[in-house]
Amino acid sequence: MTPSAGLLLLLLLGLSRAHPLEEARQEEEIQDQEIQNEEIQDEEMQNEEILDEEMQDEDKDGVDMTTRILTANNGTEKLLMEGDLLFPTSRNAMTCWYNSCLWRKASNGQVVVPYVVSSQFPSYERQMIEGAMRAFAGRTCVRFVPRRNENDYISIGSQQGCWSALGRQGGRQELSLNRGGCMYGGVIQHELNHALGFQHEQTRSDRDSYVQINWNNIIQSSAYNFQKQNTNNLNTPYDYSSIMHYGRTAFSVGYGRETITPIPNRNVAIGQRNGLSRWDIQRINLLYKC
Ligand SMILES: [Zn+2]
Repeated sequence: MTPSAGLLLLLLLGLSRAHPLEEARQEEEIQDQEIQNEEIQDEEMQNEEILDEEMQDEDKDGVDMTTRILTANNGTEKLLMEGDLLFPTSRNAMTCWYNSCLWRKASNGQVVVPYVVSSQFPSYERQMIEGAMRAFAGRTCVRFVPRRNENDYISIGSQQGCWSALGRQGGRQELSLNRGGCMYGGVIQHELNHALGFQHEQTRSDRDSYVQINWNNIIQSSAYNFQKQNTNNLNTPYDYSSIMHYGRTAFSVGYGRETITPIPNRNVAIGQRNGLSRWDIQRINLLYKC
């Protein structure tokens, strides 16, 4: 900038400051801007309220709980299959179905699953966990009981994400319920059911007759989560309402892009995490011969 141009600028600046009308106009503009900002903020708050309502709706029917689990599991260092199954280090998870990973039955006919809960959980969260366990005790012969000196047991802690091993692993086995993302009754039941030996419904050997997997909508690196497994279906029908079924947008490349679509009726609800379905309970009773 040349000295004369600088001088001119200073002069103009001085003039504009000195001009009362100009000042008033600027003030008006500032006020307008503030009002506009307030309106934008109001709108944003309303949007947030709408989002909150939508979230609550989804909580109520549980449709988006899979997303919750998967979101909670983002960033975990554990090697997970299908989003929340701990990759087995010592055995092949697929063989768990064939009785090698079942929990043992006591002489009174009850299947005892010993557990410990980390002191990370405050008492109201421990109560939530115990509440989820009671959902099994009420209608099956499975009893989650505080561990005394048993060798095989589940150790529930708040690690990164919600995940479990598949079936009884032998010794201490971890089950994670992150305090920030997994403390929902249905999510806890889902992980406990993995620990009993149940896989995801949509990986059933016969799933292609009941759901369409939209491979183009699946994040490429996550496609392995949709491989079919050699599951023991216990002669029970495919269950869209299973607590083990993923929601329609699990591992999706984009908002609202479905990865799993029920067929032939695409409107059938999937992905609920309200609680064990009738068939979930029936299967526990069949697998464990309750
Ligand atoms: Zn799962």
